[in-house]
Amino acid sequence: MSEVLANIDQALTGPACYTCSFQLEDVVLLDLLRQRVPNIPVLFLETGYHFAATYAYRDRLVREWNLNLRNLEAVKSVAAQEAEFGKLNVTAPAQCCQLRKVEPLFAALEDYEVWFTGLRREQSPTRAKLEVFETSTLKSGKTIAKVSPLAHWTWKQVWQYARENNIPILELYDQGYTSIGCEPCTALPSSDDNLRSGRWGGKKLECGIHTFATVETA
Ligand code: SF4
Repeated sequence: MSEVLANIDQALTGPACYTCSFQLEDVVLLDLLRQRVPNIPVLFLETGYHFAATYAYRDRLVREWNLNLRNLEAVKSVAAQEAEFGKLNVTAPAQCCQLRKVEPLFAALEDYEVWFTGLRREQSPTRAKLEVFETSTLKSGKTIAKVSPLAHWTWKQVWQYARENNIPILELYDQGYTSIGCEPCTALPSSDDNLRSGRWGGKKLECGIHTFATVETA
């Protein structure tokens, strides 16, 4: 724990934000971040497609933890997008994620110098080489620090911290989900070895927000 807090302290060199999907590791890291930056902006990708349980859980934590929540929305509402393109999450999920996640996030990140994430190596083969300290170059050319203090944590450690610190748990974990995003693109995992194997029907593992920007090991 002290190492995580030390890494947070080391990273705090400028205006910081935290992207939070309200999955368990994100809430665990939020609990730790709040010890250092109680008012840290919590950026939530409000795609309009989340589970009702996720929205209720987000709102509960915002209320009980007095979070500085910043909902990031796409230019078009879900209704407008579906009227124009149909169900992109079925026909073209990469385009849907680009419109509803990548573009709103990377516009918002322009306001900050430090971007904390709850990413972990163990979450997926695509994250196996993740480092705690990386840099990310946005589309505009701006470079920000991307910091993932739980990069080396296991799922077991995440749950242990949550239990020992009475962290409220999103009820979808009780149903067997191990990675939870937008409802149309989230199913129970198909592989015990890949926590994200239930995302996008196994067609892809990343929405693009962690693969869009140029990332370098700091
Ligand atoms: S996860 Fe699915 S619903 Fe959410 S933005 Fe991506 S494709 Fe669209």
